[in-house]
Amino acid sequence: MLGKQHILISLFFILPFAPSSIFIVFFLIGSIFPDIDSDNSYVLQGNVKLFKSKFLGFISHLIKYFFYYPYALILSLIFRKKLLKHRGVMHSIFPAILFSLLLSLINHVFGIAFLLGYLFHLFEDGLTKSGVCLFNPFKFLCMYGKIKTGEGFYNLILNILCCFMLVIPIFLFYKLLFLARIVSFLMFLVFNIVFLKNIKIRI
Ligand SMILES: [Zn+2]
Repeated sequence: MLGKQHILISLFFILPFAPSSIFIVFFLIGSIFPDIDSDNSYVLQGNVKLFKSKFLGFISHLIKYFFYYPYALILSLIFRKKLLKHRGVMHSIFPAILFSLLLSLINHVFGIAFLLGYLFHLFEDGLTKSGVCLFNPFKFLCMYGKIKTGEGFYNLILNILCCFMLVIPIFLFYKLLFLARIVSFLMFLVFNIVFLKNIKIRI
């Protein structure tokens, strides 16, 4: 899924439930963070206009070189397969928990928001054809969807649903919080029904 789609979808889903604006910021950072394993990612290019952040790009590069590369290389050696790739070991619950614990040392709200955003990113990528294995490098629980990233029929439907979700900030603007929450929850169900192809569980 494209970075801007991750940001829009995650933002619309979290808006009616977020307790504060700082929660939304860390949720959104979490929701684009796993793509640190892609050279085209928003975080690495530091072009997340929402945060006006060259700083975020700098931090992302530090994490890429000092955490992601060593982490992926060590796991590649252990599992004897190439894990240094997009949608590899960064698209997994393990780094999500690790980074959210580190952020929790600063403030537990940052950690929780980041973790939720990260998990949401995994869910969104799980709706695409390439899918995601939630416990990567283990193939224990994998999600696969119907969306071909950036193109095709289901990507079009995704963009249409994103436009429809604009009713959420509009409802919030008119202080209709309950309606915004209902739409957010229903859209979560719709996303699963329309885009999720299958979930594979291996023991
Ligand atoms: Zn991703």
